[in-house]
Amino acid sequence: MILEVKKIKKNYQQAQRAIQVLKDVSFKLDDGKSLAILGKSGSGKSTLLAILSGLVGPDSGDISFLGESLSKKNEDDLTQLRASKIGIIFQQYHLLAHLTALENVTLSLEINKIANPIQKAMKVLEQVGLKDRSEHFPYQLSGGEQQRVAIARSLVMNPELILADEPSGSLDSETGTHVMDILFNVTKSKGMVLVTHNKDLAHRCDHILYLEKGVLSEYSG
Ligand code: ADP
Ligand code: MG
Repeated sequence: MILEVKKIKKNYQQAQRAIQVLKDVSFKLDDGKSLAILGKSGSGKSTLLAILSGLVGPDSGDISFLGESLSKKNEDDLTQLRASKIGIIFQQYHLLAHLTALENVTLSLEINKIANPIQKAMKVLEQVGLKDRSEHFPYQLSGGEQQRVAIARSLVMNPELILADEPSGSLDSETGTHVMDILFNVTKSKGMVLVTHNKDLAHRCDHILYLEKGVLSEYSG
């Protein structure tokens, strides 16, 4: 079991009133499995991913990642966990604009003082089909290529879990399908939680759960 999420609740304060974004969210993810969390815009998907990555704390409930409770970890431990064991992919790619594709991918290897960063980064760039784009800056790359760099970056530390937030949401459908083919291909042996409002995309995962009104339940079509 890679992830066990137990009774997560999260409220946000908006203009003097508390909105309950997550009321009761529980699920488990087995090693190597992909889970889609399907939900409409505003249903709390990005909030849930932020909680899974330890970036945002839940109001109550807990997450166990590889058998360890996130609520018992301090900020440094959580940062280290995100840097090494969790790969995160966002809709808007979030590449660093002043770094080349290769530099974006080597960054976490360098921060973590991993040997042979360039060799390792080139290997994952090759896996996403971007070996010949390594010296390009984000503005010189198409949206699909930028997202492939972001996928390479999420994988380069060989994380146990991939968290993906609407990863094809900014791409046209053909490019999106191509990028998702690559993502599923390179994450085959890893756990993945993919949040999306796109049913077709959700159906490519091993399992689908539906987030609505703060409650996560089995998806029934
Ligand atoms: P989704 O990703 O499914 O579109 P979000 O998780 O981004 O949904 O947002 C869920 C709800 O929580 C929305 O109503 C949003 O306005 C609210 N929300 C998200 N982040 C914050 C925040 N930092 N402060 C206050 N409200 C927030
Ligand atoms: Mg979102």
